[in-house]
Amino acid sequence: MSQHPETRAIRIQTPRTAQKEHATPLFLTSSFVYDKAEDMAAAFEDDNLDVNIYSRFSNPTVDEFIAKIASLEGAEDGVATGTGMAAVFSTFMTFLSAGDHILSASAVFGSTHSILTKYLPKWGITSDYFDMNKPESIEALIKPHTKMLYLETPSNPGLDIIDIEYVAGICKQKGILLVVDNCFATPAVQQPLALGADLVIHSATKFIDGQGRVLGGVVVGRKELIYPLYLFIRNTGPSMSPFNAWVLTKSLETLHLRMEKHASNALALAKHFQNHPQLSWVKYPYLDTHPQHAVAVKQMSNGGGIVTFEIKGGVEKGRTFLNSLKMLSMTNNLGDSRSIASHPASTTHSKLSEAERAAVGITPGLIRISVGLEHVSDIIADIEQALEVCK
Ligand SMILES: *Cc1c(COP(=O)(O)O)cnc(C)c1O
Repeated sequence: MSQHPETRAIRIQTPRTAQKEHATPLFLTSSFVYDKAEDMAAAFEDDNLDVNIYSRFSNPTVDEFIAKIASLEGAEDGVATGTGMAAVFSTFMTFLSAGDHILSASAVFGSTHSILTKYLPKWGITSDYFDMNKPESIEALIKPHTKMLYLETPSNPGLDIIDIEYVAGICKQKGILLVVDNCFATPAVQQPLALGADLVIHSATKFIDGQGRVLGGVVVGRKELIYPLYLFIRNTGPSMSPFNAWVLTKSLETLHLRMEKHASNALALAKHFQNHPQLSWVKYPYLDTHPQHAVAVKQMSNGGGIVTFEIKGGVEKGRTFLNSLKMLSMTNNLGDSRSIASHPASTTHSKLSEAERAAVGITPGLIRISVGLEHVSDIIADIEQALEVCK
């Protein structure tokens, strides 16, 4: 019988050295040596993936991180990259060619938008967007040359949720690759491959690290899809640093514990502020007022660690709210043990017009809280006092 995910996140390991160290060894080495010229020749033979050659190709510390995350996502194999965006870009470059079309959810990460609109067109790859809240509109948007469907669920920062199994059904029927950015949920909460996705992408920078220390990315899926992706990364170089992999493989040991606590804190916070007079609405996947609550409960084991709300008084009150916080950090990262508040309309998305912001689900007073692991009463108290200032 296979072990539980919590156990695999701790016990999966690459072979230890002759020192028999208990913890994961950190192989900070750019290359690996050979005893004989014949061994070196064999290492360079095609398809010899068993021998480490150079850390741009593979590295035992990075391999341990990949083995763990692939196991947690129920994937055959994976690749690791220096950042989440390197994972997204490498996936596009490996599977799309000139003339291909990608259908993407409109509510995707800002830099993913930039790749779709500013860079892919330079290579003759076009894209269209679909609305996460209208899954029934997807089929009509698929073109004969559509190769890939791309989405994030829950989305950032709108927390829109889509039924992965339903979208996977359409993709299977049309022969399109379904790629899911699982960054907000993590494999501790949602496993898109089991619901029919072909590839899962993560920014490991967020909940996977969980402590705001390093950047990283990962893609997992079937061996036949991972192999060309591995070759792309090996040849073009967006590989993960062994040091970052060493941090991240240790992080995975506490992922399930952390996600349970992030989620219970987030649910308590969402419920506490649900009817607050200063807020027009509060959004959280596991609140029954979330428009896709039924889908969230079906495909996620908890609601995750992000809560959003709309503060009455728009952009100005949003800024006042941030300035009034005493404990929560003001930063654009998320998925940290420290609770974080951000106000996209006055910061990350301030250069867009109000209409452009509305199109990606960002309202003027939208506050995104990445609920951390502090005592929930302290997080609530800080938000409460900042809302008092906004009166
Ligand atoms: C942060 C993020 C990314 C990009 O990851 P980096 O590690 O910052 O490159 C991609 N998708 C989502 C949903 C994210 O939150």
